[in-house]
Amino acid sequence: MARRRQIYEGKAKVLFEGPEPGTLVQYFKDDATAFNNKKRGTITGKGVLNNRISEYLMVRLNEIGVFTHFVRRLNMREQLVREVEIIPVEVVVRNVVAGSLATRLGMAEGTALPRSIIEYYYKNDELDDPMVSEEHITAFGWATPQELDEIMSVALRINDFLTGLFLGTGIRLVDFKLEFGRLWEGEQMRIVLADEISPDSCRLWDIKTNEKMDKDRFRRDLGRVEEAYQEVARRLGILPESGPRDMQGPKVMQ
Ligand code: UDP
Repeated sequence: MARRRQIYEGKAKVLFEGPEPGTLVQYFKDDATAFNNKKRGTITGKGVLNNRISEYLMVRLNEIGVFTHFVRRLNMREQLVREVEIIPVEVVVRNVVAGSLATRLGMAEGTALPRSIIEYYYKNDELDDPMVSEEHITAFGWATPQELDEIMSVALRINDFLTGLFLGTGIRLVDFKLEFGRLWEGEQMRIVLADEISPDSCRLWDIKTNEKMDKDRFRRDLGRVEEAYQEVARRLGILPESGPRDMQGPKVMQ
């Protein structure tokens, strides 16, 4: 079989041309970067785990009516997705103070927010993904006001759903990043969730111990990074314990 054409290579994923027009193959690498590429490394097995975790979360979201680019998982490291026109804005939803919010406003990490907060960052590596407001997004035409309304309400819906889903497995969803794209169906355009949802793009803390189970273990050199990603998969019931057929549902914690 001829080698597939590579469309794009990012920090943690590669996109290849898909088997049919309008589809892409999303390949998950073990590479990890942080602080806008200043820190680089490899987390063995991360790609396999993120492929599974993102598949699981996208499928669950699809079941509640959230449109996503996800079609199906192809193998350990690849999934088939719909090709979308990516909106160049990272949408961050926060429930608890952490990361750049703690630094920017001098607030203690771990403080629960009075309500969920949405932030937007312009996707631009050279500029270090600067934070932008809705005004910038609509003024520069990255998204229309209607698209932004849709993005905001879908992001909050995703937050409510994922917060409950993770809570059921003893995990606090502190914050996470989403990306959206436009999908054309004839004349109709739909905003769909794209990219991935995984411990690379979420902050996940154990509800009892506050132990970090996400990419902060890599960013802050906390060690046991792969084990943390594995534990997230295990709690979601998607880590095969004795082979690929040995799948269980989420493990509910009391
Ligand atoms: N995030 C991400 N990609 C980015 C920036 C942030 O996935 O390029 C995620 C990050 O993992 C965290 C949330 O978005 O779950 C909020 O990140 P924050 O603004 O605190 O930035 P960071 O501390 O990661 O630099």
